[in-house]
Amino acid sequence: RIVSAAAGTPQEEALERALRPKLLGEYIGQTRAREQLEIFIGAARKRREALDHVLLFGPPGLGKTTLSHIVAAELGVNLRQTSGPVLEKPKDLAAILTSLEKNDVLFIDEIHRLSPVVEEILYPALEDYQIDIMIGEGPAARSIKLDLQPFTLVGATTRAGMLTNPLRDRFGIIARLEFYTPEELSRIVTRSAGLLGAPIDAEGAMELARRSRGTPRIANRLLRRVRDYAEVKGDGCIVKTVADRALTMLDVDPVGFDLMDRKFLEAVVHRFDGGPVGLENVAAAIGEDAGTIEDVIEPYLIQQGYLQRTPRGRVATLAAWRHLGVTPPQRAGL
Ligand code: ADP
Repeated sequence: RIVSAAAGTPQEEALERALRPKLLGEYIGQTRAREQLEIFIGAARKRREALDHVLLFGPPGLGKTTLSHIVAAELGVNLRQTSGPVLEKPKDLAAILTSLEKNDVLFIDEIHRLSPVVEEILYPALEDYQIDIMIGEGPAARSIKLDLQPFTLVGATTRAGMLTNPLRDRFGIIARLEFYTPEELSRIVTRSAGLLGAPIDAEGAMELARRSRGTPRIANRLLRRVRDYAEVKGDGCIVKTVADRALTMLDVDPVGFDLMDRKFLEAVVHRFDGGPVGLENVAAAIGEDAGTIEDVIEPYLIQQGYLQRTPRGRVATLAAWRHLGVTPPQRAGL
């Protein structure tokens, strides 16, 4: 899936690192999260204390990892990066925690996937900067307390609802990242094009922005593809017509939906009569993982008003029927 917001090829990841804004001032959009962090970072820096633990949540590709790097850079401390599934055993986490220096930032991506035994270690670490570790085995085993340096945990998750309550309660700052507006994305695209040395005009940038599912990661990936197209099929400059043709070739439709989005909407509309239909049923019908649908596909369709999540299941809205060029049945609720 070309425009998937999930992690990509090594090439794409290198591109991502290169395009990542380094400081809050360069971080476009997300005004609420940015303002909140600006204040708390400023206060922590003044007092030379560790920043409160931060939870960032929102769909993939909206800038959670980027923001965690920015937090460390703004605080002038080191960043250690890991992820929930990587930390298999308590000792994996203990090793990282004991290596942190004063006020460092520890970034744990996909924090909702921490195993319960690892999460257990994290609680006293977050609260009192202490961990309990077991030394020895069998009857001789005993637990000892180790003091840690004060540190800041930045946790990222696609769904805050997946976190256990005790873990969520330990975050002092909780920021929800939103989809970007086309205007914000067009600023991101223009900035990225500048860094890549790709000529682009305002309309070209806006066309890309409108068709990037509100997501900077997708915007940057599409930009790279569209630049190739402009070089081969045009004079190198990304203007609106070139962007449009390239995106159409990449199966990104005029509102920015890709093949998976359309496959999902088509299943709800054609196979389930527009719903309501349970997530698992649509997932089985299109051969996609229910979690991926919930994390990656649905949030944007819901935000754009093409889909509703109701207690009885997913329902395609009138806009979805129209988008697929199908006449909706006359019935209440649509
Ligand atoms: P997440 O961790 O939420 O999946 P990332 O932080 O990896 O997302 O962001 C994906 C890419 O999008 C990054 O390479 C970065 O260049 C770009 N990006 C994200 N947010 C912004 C922003 N606010 N301004 C500019 N670029 C951004």
